Amino acid sequence: MKKKILVANRGEIACRIIRAIQELGHTAVAIYETPDNGALHIRVADEAIWLGDGPRVDYLDIERIMQVAKRYDIDAIHPGYGFLAENPGLPKACVENDIIFIGPNSEVISNLGNKVMARKIMAGAKIPMVPGTDNLADDEDAAVAEAIVFGEKYGYPIMLKATAGGGGRGIRQVDRPEDVQEQFQIARAEAIAAFASGDIYIEKVVVQPKHVEVQIIADSTGETVHLGTRDCSIQRRNQKLVEIAPSLIPDQGLLDEICETAVRAAKAANYENAGTVEFLIDKDMNYYFMEINTRVQVEHTVTEMVTGIDIVRTQIKLALGKTLLFKQEDVQIRGYAIEMRINAEDPQNDFMPEGGKTVNVYRSPGGYGVRLDGFVYQGYTIPEVYDSLLVKLTVHGYSWNETVDRLRRCLNNYVISGLKTTIPYYIQLVNEPQFQSGDFDTSYIEQHPELADYRDDVSEVNKIAALIAEIHHEKMNPYAI
Ligand code: ADP
Ligand code: ADP
Ligand code: MG
Repeated sequence: MKKKILVANRGEIACRIIRAIQELGHTAVAIYETPDNGALHIRVADEAIWLGDGPRVDYLDIERIMQVAKRYDIDAIHPGYGFLAENPGLPKACVENDIIFIGPNSEVISNLGNKVMARKIMAGAKIPMVPGTDNLADDEDAAVAEAIVFGEKYGYPIMLKATAGGGGRGIRQVDRPEDVQEQFQIARAEAIAAFASGDIYIEKVVVQPKHVEVQIIADSTGETVHLGTRDCSIQRRNQKLVEIAPSLIPDQGLLDEICETAVRAAKAANYENAGTVEFLIDKDMNYYFMEINTRVQVEHTVTEMVTGIDIVRTQIKLALGKTLLFKQEDVQIRGYAIEMRINAEDPQNDFMPEGGKTVNVYRSPGGYGVRLDGFVYQGYTIPEVYDSLLVKLTVHGYSWNETVDRLRRCLNNYVISGLKTTIPYYIQLVNEPQFQSGDFDTSYIEQHPELADYRDDVSEVNKIAALIAEIHHEKMNPYAI
């Protein structure tokens, strides 16, 4: 039966989800705040509902969203990532209002969203992890003293982490005992600002780790499969920029073991729907559980490209009561996929956001093995109040080398002018030998400051194109993004 599905998100992920809803023959309902007037997710949806002036507060207002959901006879809600995606209050409100939440239930989200609780559940299932603490004391002096005891016991560096953390915020590495207090204050302030909770705990640092994660999908019968690994080691400020599927670690036995561990972790948490189990891998190839993200991940595209499985479509079908159609042995990984997050940021200025600017010229690459998940178009002004992701460029290839070659071609053909983006930085990146070798860890960007060493002038051709576009008030067809 045709359902009305509300997408409680914006930007590229809202567009991504709307496509899946429409492909399934359901009705896609968008919501928006005033700064998103004219945004693509409103145009591609079947219906769009204005929530309020925002910014951000209305997208985060569960009561308001439930109010419109009731009023417009919504059957199900997809939260996307960010915003309310990991807020257990949304699935709870959905249950109370007889609406289907596309994701795990509130108890699972609340258990796994709390990193200390998640570690307890995983410890019970004997999932490998680094030494860590409970929440530190509320009192600052007592908390600092606990951290110093931990540092003495396990050695430095140690990691202070926001218990409710997400998006790389509230994470501070401490290298020496004399820095504990200052870093604790920063981590706590960041945690309070981002998560309205000052809870901080400690983990031992895995030095120069690889970040490897496993996509898992589980149905209501407990059938749980994994869709292989992704490497997300290329990060700045603990936030991912580039993601690769599958991991390039040449030990297939180890990767299989990590995938099986991820399935065990998901089962231990009674997981349902799509999720991601994140691990860190040290130089000696020991792996440690880090967290489970209870939502669709930004980088789900690379897994879709190498498995052929539409993760968002699967999420919706499972939430509407279907069971998994494929078994573990049906999942095959073919070739490699790389996603680059093209952000409105200036890599030459510490990746400062470039919000508030207008896209003068937008020309995107296409062709075999190329996928774009975006929401900006020529003439679009980027709202300043949301995150800086413009479009995800995902390429798929038969081999790693072919995938890198394809990526280079796409980046060289991409034109976004009117604002600074991460594209010129990525062009440097794809030409860098260590990146090409596929062997890097989370310190890669920090260790390659020369990647930001490029001349960022708009070429004459682009300037002329921008001028012509302006004269003709040319708008790209916003559907071909
Ligand atoms: P990934 O999906 O790979 O984990 P990010 O860590 O960048 O990607 O998170 C995806 C988006 O969701 C980002 O915009 C980030 O700021 C936001 N986000 C992630 N976790 C939270 C959270 N707990 N609260 C608020 N926003 C979050
Ligand atoms: P978030 O919820 O913000 O994604 P994570 O716990 O997933 O937080 O950590 C984000 C990133 O921070 C990781 O990908 C990794 O680069 C770094 N990190 C987190 N914990 C550790 C640790 N114990 N040792 C080394 N790096 C870590
Ligand atoms: Mg994480």
